[in-house]
Amino acid sequence: SPVPDYLSEVLHTCFGDTSGHTAGYIPELAAADPDLFGLALSTVDGSVYCAGDAGVEFTIQSISKPFIYALAIKEHGLESVLQKVGVEPSGEAFNELSLERESKRPLNPMINAGAITAHTLIAGQGDDGARRDAVILDGLSAFAGRSLTVNESVLGSEMGTAHRNLAIAHMLRSHGIIDQEPAEVVRGYTRQCSINVTARDLALMAATLANGGVQPLTGEQVLTAGVVRQVLAVMTTCGMYDAAGDWVTTVGIPAKSGVAGGIIGALPGQVGLAAFSPRLDHHGNSVRGIKACERLSQDMGLHLMEVP
Ligand code: GLU
Repeated sequence: SPVPDYLSEVLHTCFGDTSGHTAGYIPELAAADPDLFGLALSTVDGSVYCAGDAGVEFTIQSISKPFIYALAIKEHGLESVLQKVGVEPSGEAFNELSLERESKRPLNPMINAGAITAHTLIAGQGDDGARRDAVILDGLSAFAGRSLTVNESVLGSEMGTAHRNLAIAHMLRSHGIIDQEPAEVVRGYTRQCSINVTARDLALMAATLANGGVQPLTGEQVLTAGVVRQVLAVMTTCGMYDAAGDWVTTVGIPAKSGVAGGIIGALPGQVGLAAFSPRLDHHGNSVRGIKACERLSQDMGLHLMEVP
């Protein structure tokens, strides 16, 4: 197949861009090797192609958000999740302390307020944090098609500086959006963000979304097509922090990025893409990851608004 050579070529053309910085607010992420760069692509029928550091593990961070939102809808139904978390792009930073004016819901599940709320909806919405941790790890593993693990040093490092997320959780609790103990919720949410993945895993997770909820390698129906549609729609409008508009015009596919440097893109019916490179732009998106996705979208005509 010509795909691996093509991916290496894309990787090499984007490699020289060393602008941006590793995430500064989590010590363990700040210390990541900034030169790592991996690309992976999975078709909906499970052909997986990789280039560069696509087998290196890093933490999933905010890329967990669309998958946990999906699992919350799977567990409770869309109507009941919509009562807790909206679907409007915020245009604000991912960690903004903001809620919808009237309803007091978080604006969407891709900002931390919405993601922390979605996190509390997993495994019965009760106080059993250990059970929620296990269901989340199993849930994300089902998308990846292998057993994922938690990066305990990133978890510890981020818990030491989690003041903003604690503030968000207390804000949610004060408005009755969540009813669990804020400190325990933030611990669980941070653990969710600290799950290790590779670019290859992420490409398969994205391909599961692109494939209507069926994991391409295991054949497991992880989500129904209706849930996938909801998640991809929210990724399209809210997935790239406050650069969602830039992304949707230039790359034009549903996506989500994370502060460890990962990005996924899912093109319905076709492919899941993943990039990993730790240096971030001022929005928190991987600089080389964005460049590579722009190339892939252009070369392969992936933009959803393109008239064939
Ligand atoms: N755990 C990170 C946080 O909540 C995730 C942020 C991200 O990847 O955008 O601050």
